[in-house]
Amino acid sequence: MAKFCTKCGNELNEDGFCEKCGTKSETSNVQINQTIITKPKSNGFATAGFVISLVSILCCGGTSTIGLVFSIIGLVTANKYDGNGKGLAIAGIIINALLIIVLIIFYSLGLATTIFDSYSNGYRYY
Ligand SMILES: [Zn+2]
Repeated sequence: MAKFCTKCGNELNEDGFCEKCGTKSETSNVQINQTIITKPKSNGFATAGFVISLVSILCCGGTSTIGLVFSIIGLVTANKYDGNGKGLAIAGIIINALLIIVLIIFYSLGLATTIFDSYSNGYRYY
């Protein structure tokens, strides 16, 4: 079974070596290249969730809901990426969840204060 040079088309010798241009046949490397190509991509959702969690800290938790959703998707899909980004996803969930809890506490306190204020104002006016 004769093989031909990929560069000049000359017939290769038994060792897969082209005597015309000196190119060594690379057919033996094809399988290795395919395994590199099919390697899992990086987990975009986990990374995005973590980045948003950091942004949320700067934005006083404003984007933490989106960040939490992204992190959860990142964690769920982490197995598809050979567990890639699992740590980032968990970190993102923790940071975003904490920010949401803090926001709820502040909102509740603010609401309580508003109700208390309206009551005290009410007593003042009636
Ligand atoms: Zn050649």
